[in-house]
Amino acid sequence: MTEATPARPLILVVDDDRVTREFVGGLLRGNGYTVEIAEHGQAAVDRLARGGVDLILLDIIMPGLSGVDTCRLLKTMTQEAFVPVMLVTAKSDLDSRVEGLRIGADDYVCKPFDERELLARVSNMLRLKQMHDDVTTAKARLEKLAVQDELTGLYNYRYLHTRLNEEFKRAERYRDPLACAMIDIDHFKGFNDSFGHHVGDRVLAEVASRLRKAVREIDVVARYGGEEFLLVLPSTHFTGALTVADRVWRSVGTDPVMVDGQAYPVTISVGVALYPSRDVKSKDQLIKAADRALYQAKDDGRDRICVFQHQGYIYRPASPPEA
Ligand code: GH3
Ligand code: MG
Ligand code: MG
Repeated sequence: MTEATPARPLILVVDDDRVTREFVGGLLRGNGYTVEIAEHGQAAVDRLARGGVDLILLDIIMPGLSGVDTCRLLKTMTQEAFVPVMLVTAKSDLDSRVEGLRIGADDYVCKPFDERELLARVSNMLRLKQMHDDVTTAKARLEKLAVQDELTGLYNYRYLHTRLNEEFKRAERYRDPLACAMIDIDHFKGFNDSFGHHVGDRVLAEVASRLRKAVREIDVVARYGGEEFLLVLPSTHFTGALTVADRVWRSVGTDPVMVDGQAYPVTISVGVALYPSRDVKSKDQLIKAADRALYQAKDDGRDRICVFQHQGYIYRPASPPEA
């Protein structure tokens, strides 16, 4: 959350009048703010687009793009991130002040300035912005946590089932193939027992990262259980699924996982299942088939890939990856 709190807030002062710019700029700088100047509306729009602005002080009466028009533009640019706009108006100019507030300006100050009032309003607006930013950051974090496994950064079980449902429906509707691979780390319990949970956790995270790197962006990689992972491979046929399974298997087994300078060889067993196939008509059957293939891989001696095909298991690379 700290990144949303700039050490010195950046205030953009937009005014066509040099004297006002210098006065306001000086006052704000003197009170610990970083100030940038725009001499007309278009310059303000350009500056805002580059990012990093926390508050805009906008003169209403300017040649070219008027303050009200500039405000309207600035507000359409910042619908997601809240960048408050304060209008700077003459006391007599009630109409444009009202119009400005109506189109989305957040506050106003009147010329001639009362310094204390200007500073108090600026500080208020920045506090509001900070609160808004904090909520946005927290919301993004919660959204991420809701779908993500914390240890590995992969998708969690709940998200996996939601996605698999969608992918399965899509595959059914468009008669598109859908492959899935259940992956389990071999003898992981012994691993934990011998080296401790801390090392076990680091190994899990590294295996997760290798899996992620071994598949395409559109493939779904999820932590299915303790040391089990599930890959969902949309639009992937038999040979494609085998290629991915093989790449994944090698990506884990070829080089040992390094934890604190110590090398730990890790192998995985992989069970692959495909939709459509004779015994796989539903999402649950797809997972079940992958699970059965994985069980077969374990039964055959681990460190290998098995493919579920209605009558049996037709692909069993027996050799472990070359070190
Ligand atoms: P197999 O080759 O048959 O898969 O043997 P295994 O030891 O890997 O399988 P088993 O299912 O018996 O053990 C899984 C172990 O995974 C048990 C548990 O200690 C470990 N484990 C599960 N989740 C975590 C975790 O989050 N962190 C750590 N460090 N270990 C975990
Ligand atoms: Mg295991
Ligand atoms: Mg297991």
